[in-house]
Amino acid sequence: MTRKDLANLMFPNVTETIYDLEKKYPKRKLDDSQIVTRYAPSPTGFIHMGNLLSAFIANKVAKDTNGIFYLRIEDTDNKRKVENGISKIIDDLANFSIVPDEGVMSEDSQKGEYGPYIQSERQEIYNVYAKYMIENDLAYPCFCTETDLENIRSNQEAKKERIGYYSKYATCRNMSVDEAYRRIENKEKYVIRLKSVGDFEKRVVVNDLVRGKVIFPENDIDHVLVKSDGIPVYHFAHVIDDHLMRTTHILRGEEWLSSVPLHLQLFLMLGFEVPKYAHLGLVMKIDENGVRRKLSKRKDKEAAISFYHEKGVPIEAVKLYLMTIANSNFEAFLDANPTAKIEDFKFDFKKVSASGTLFDLDKLINISRNYISRLTALEVYNYALKWALEFDKEFASLLEKYKDYSISIFNIERNQKKPRKDYDTFSSIKSHIWYMYDEYFTDLEYNWAKINDKKEISEILDSYINNYYDIEDDKDTWFNKIKELASSFGYCPDMKEYKLNPDNYKGNVSDIATVIRVAVTTSTMSPDLYEILKLLGTDRIKNRFINIK
Ligand code: GLU
Repeated sequence: MTRKDLANLMFPNVTETIYDLEKKYPKRKLDDSQIVTRYAPSPTGFIHMGNLLSAFIANKVAKDTNGIFYLRIEDTDNKRKVENGISKIIDDLANFSIVPDEGVMSEDSQKGEYGPYIQSERQEIYNVYAKYMIENDLAYPCFCTETDLENIRSNQEAKKERIGYYSKYATCRNMSVDEAYRRIENKEKYVIRLKSVGDFEKRVVVNDLVRGKVIFPENDIDHVLVKSDGIPVYHFAHVIDDHLMRTTHILRGEEWLSSVPLHLQLFLMLGFEVPKYAHLGLVMKIDENGVRRKLSKRKDKEAAISFYHEKGVPIEAVKLYLMTIANSNFEAFLDANPTAKIEDFKFDFKKVSASGTLFDLDKLINISRNYISRLTALEVYNYALKWALEFDKEFASLLEKYKDYSISIFNIERNQKKPRKDYDTFSSIKSHIWYMYDEYFTDLEYNWAKINDKKEISEILDSYINNYYDIEDDKDTWFNKIKELASSFGYCPDMKEYKLNPDNYKGNVSDIATVIRVAVTTSTMSPDLYEILKLLGTDRIKNRFINIK
């Protein structure tokens, strides 16, 4: 029996060769600067911040270099599949304007010449390589049972030797072709293992774009490449896929870094060109106890993408934040160019933190705050309405009913060099402007400790609305009238004078303005009172003054 006979017995239906596949998936016609990279999730239907960051970076480097970003679905592990898992991933990515140039485009469509892009549809391709490896003595069938493997392990433990299926412990490695042939004919269960060519005493250098040179011992473990059900493991499938899809850069989580010696060996044994690697650090957070730990999709609400949607954080703001944690120099770039877009900035592998990125929700919210402050009132209105239609129907109906009025509210202190930054998210807007809607402004109490004499308050308000307030007044006239009102009640109209002789007065003009402010908003702090009064209009002001408790 020859290896060829054995390979034919194991793969009777494989007729294509690895050379056929080389022809079928030729090198891409791109120049060296164009990066071909991918996002390769399992179809678990859930993208968390860590995954989103990798996909975001992969998409960004492809776009920066006019290359290709593709989506590959790695579904060789059936246990991790969920219903509509692919669509959920695609939708989440699309929400952040990450749309693959190629690959899986929806649950049932794929685009591109290098597919299929779903691993479960690539079984025939994997078989071609598995057959080739058997035929060329690069892999072998292994019949060890669970018990055999346990025995090897306990033997190694007893001798304090390195654990694993390698050299002398790899019992099936040197099995004769005849024996293997006979056992397969007898329908014995087997896996296919790599016949490792590595030497643990030797070193292999991994050139990682983020980490620089990382040195590992060579891999000498005869890893399983194909499971007993014929399905390849990640390591085997990824090497074949990334080669045939002509990936130039593999960007993935640092948990894969220690597998690179194995992957390099596979690339070399199969005669594939080795792609460039960038292993991205974990996304971390400082928890309540000040401990730095991995951002957890179980424990941390901010790890879920849905959190930002529910909170009404603009997607652009999340993207800007992702860029700041992707590249340490982006924040300075953004400070220098506050209105710049992500497309204006070029991603740099050297500026990625190798030790992991710290996820800071407060910082993200602050970016959101700045971003919202630069929107037009109409944009704020549209976003706020969209958010409210999903999460606060009552507020949505008020926004719809009073569209122009609401836009005017959003316009207060907006069109100026330093716009107000009250709104940090769209979900927070109502808490800042609720009092502008009579529907919410019912049965409210006047609550300000400094001037709280009910009689005096009602006299001040009465006098203001009957003797002073005129909606037509410009801002200076309006303020002069408040000064006059203040004087007439014994409050100092002039702040400088008040600071010099506070004992001569009951208070100052700002106290009087606050009485009016509290009466119409319930709060001592609000945006421009002049604008608020103008928007409310004389009748509603009067009404609020009369109904104050
Ligand atoms: N399916 C692997 C994962 O989800 C992908 C790793 C890679 O990008 O190569 O971690």
